[in-house]
Amino acid sequence: MSSAEYAVQGAVAVITLNNPPVNGLGHDLRRGILAGIDRAEGDTAVRAIVLIGAGKGFSGGADIREFNTPKSSAEPTLLTLLQAIEASSKPVIAAIHGMAMGGGLELALACHFRVAIAGAQIALPEVKLGLLPGAGGTQRLPRAVGVETALNMIVSGAAVPAEQLRGTPLFDALVEGDLLAGARRFAEAVAAEGRPLKRLRDVPIRMPNADAFFGFARNSVAAASKGYPAPLACVEAVAGAVSKPFDEGLKHERNLFVQLMNTPESKALRHAFFAERAASKIPDVPEDTPTRPVRTAAVLGAGTMGGGIAMNFANAGIPVTVLEVSREALDKGLATIRKNYERTLKKGKLTPAKLEERMGLIRPTVSYGDVGQADIVIEAVFEDLAVKEGVFKKLDEVMKPGAILATNTSTLDVNRIARFTRRPQDVVGTHFFSPANVMKLLEIVRGSATANDVLATALSLAKKIDKIAVVAGVCDGFIGNRMLEQYIRQAMFLLEEGALPHQVDRALEQWGMAMGPFRMSDLAGNDVGWYIRKRRYVEKPDVKYSRIADRLCELGRFGQKTGAGWYRYEPGNRDAIPDPAVEEMITRYSAEIGVQRRRVPEEEIVERCIFALVNEGARILEDGIALRASDIDVVYLAGYGFPRFRGGPMCYADTLGLPNVVRTMRGFAAKPSGDPGFWRPAHFLKSLAAEGRAFNQAGGVS
Ligand code: NAD
Repeated sequence: MSSAEYAVQGAVAVITLNNPPVNGLGHDLRRGILAGIDRAEGDTAVRAIVLIGAGKGFSGGADIREFNTPKSSAEPTLLTLLQAIEASSKPVIAAIHGMAMGGGLELALACHFRVAIAGAQIALPEVKLGLLPGAGGTQRLPRAVGVETALNMIVSGAAVPAEQLRGTPLFDALVEGDLLAGARRFAEAVAAEGRPLKRLRDVPIRMPNADAFFGFARNSVAAASKGYPAPLACVEAVAGAVSKPFDEGLKHERNLFVQLMNTPESKALRHAFFAERAASKIPDVPEDTPTRPVRTAAVLGAGTMGGGIAMNFANAGIPVTVLEVSREALDKGLATIRKNYERTLKKGKLTPAKLEERMGLIRPTVSYGDVGQADIVIEAVFEDLAVKEGVFKKLDEVMKPGAILATNTSTLDVNRIARFTRRPQDVVGTHFFSPANVMKLLEIVRGSATANDVLATALSLAKKIDKIAVVAGVCDGFIGNRMLEQYIRQAMFLLEEGALPHQVDRALEQWGMAMGPFRMSDLAGNDVGWYIRKRRYVEKPDVKYSRIADRLCELGRFGQKTGAGWYRYEPGNRDAIPDPAVEEMITRYSAEIGVQRRRVPEEEIVERCIFALVNEGARILEDGIALRASDIDVVYLAGYGFPRFRGGPMCYADTLGLPNVVRTMRGFAAKPSGDPGFWRPAHFLKSLAAEGRAFNQAGGVS
């Protein structure tokens, strides 16, 4: 059966787009719509044609399942279909509900008339994938809603509700009640009146101040879109709509589209888009694995993490009981949560009623008796195995059968924690990132005994609480922090050799990282790394660590929380100010270890830090800790401020070419100051490079 259904109702042919979930314009649907148009053209009883979407909306645009397959460009292409619709001798009316996005909106724009119901979301979001609307969107939308509104929509990709565009030629009517009935009435009226067909291509654009307008637009868009070429190309395409005849404008749009398709930035953004979708697919946990219901939750510990985790549940409307060791600790935790909500309220993003509703969903307690019936409990107590042991033994006693027991540990062995209970199959790691109510990333740590339905439930819960989840195996640091340790180690070696904290941060921030390693350490607390290093010195005496950060910690410079770290801070201000005292300490340290300091080029700073991530990422794949290279990319994009236009560390390495990465690493190892141990390429990286393959083609090694 075709995904376009055809029916004649009176004098109106109704073509229903039916390709769940969002009526993506896949090959079969395009062919079905075109066949419907041809059939209606040939039927003398038909006087008008309505296009309408089944299910959630009109159309969400291209069918992403067909991306990178021959079907995506097979005839009839979207352009062919739009031409046929525009050229139809009978009025074609798009009836829009839910959403008309991307190619879906371009389809509607090629129709002669459009009717919609209020609330329908209208958008051309291609820019978010580093592209621009390539099927006439940049030419027709300005003719429908005006140049300025269209430009804003195209450059931002943001969705606009239909009613906001009421009164523009985009909509000929806003329908109340049943959309199909309203669209049919409209179609019958158009046919009965013999209304001339309106083609947006024929609408002239008059803009006397076009040069000044686009000059301003170019400047402001260029300033706001550093690292991303697509927004500026969007401006050029819309400028073409004003300065060129329609068909030339279309050609111009097409050329720009093709150019963007080939940019590394668009490739990276598309990679990130698919990587996020792939991350929730676990090969041995089929999509139809039943999940356990999560109607209530409990969180143990109302500290930095527990409070934020509880907020996630409340924000999703799930009642959550928060357990602490004392009333005092509870009050403190709850006060912090309220303060966080009040900050959101002040920004106008929450109403007082919603604030109270959310606070009402958070139930404080000091008694385990109050948590036993929760469907899931997340432990966020001190990072101390003995404390976790006590907590999990207690949970094993009090939790109802089938409850999920999750731990937020960042460094401890989830398998050991699971063995503190008699139900290790119900235990899973849920590693949130700080601040837990803000950060998108959630590493779901699969223990050796974790049941499939527990994993499936954790993945579905992640969606409910608006997180991007990645599954990791059990190891020290999981995916993100295990890689970060190597990145930070390398950043420290750079200090020993001649760089200063602000130089390293600046190089990486200019390259695109949201925050350089030293500003980040100051924010997270330098004592955290110190604590881990002290463990490493005992566990791994052969591994070389710079002691420079220990010196800093010995001075009590733990970062922002102590007013000084790698930088100094003015009271009440988070601006990192380079501190001559730290620079002196670093210089002295270099002299002590006999290193002749040198100027370290920015390129070397970036390569050494990023390749440290890449090499450890390869080991993580080798060890089966991550299922696929793209999962590692998702972790870095969602949790560590890695620039999206570079697609994640593994994607970036692929872009450079793995043989080039290996060669550069060997060059670092060969330097007099180099550490051959550090720069030994991971076996997996080496073999991919030798075979001329890439991480993201390889799809992991598990
Ligand atoms: P925290 O010290 O801020 O909070 C811990 C809270 O747990 C305290 O309020 C304490 O009173 C409470 N607590 C201690 N023992 C308890 C018990 N037996 N029962 C109930 N409550 C108890 O610590 P945190 O930073 O929120 O870290 C909590 C967990 O989250 C740790 O396992 C940590 O490794 C992990 N984690 C922390 C971060 C981070 O950035 N802070 C990030 C990811 C994971």
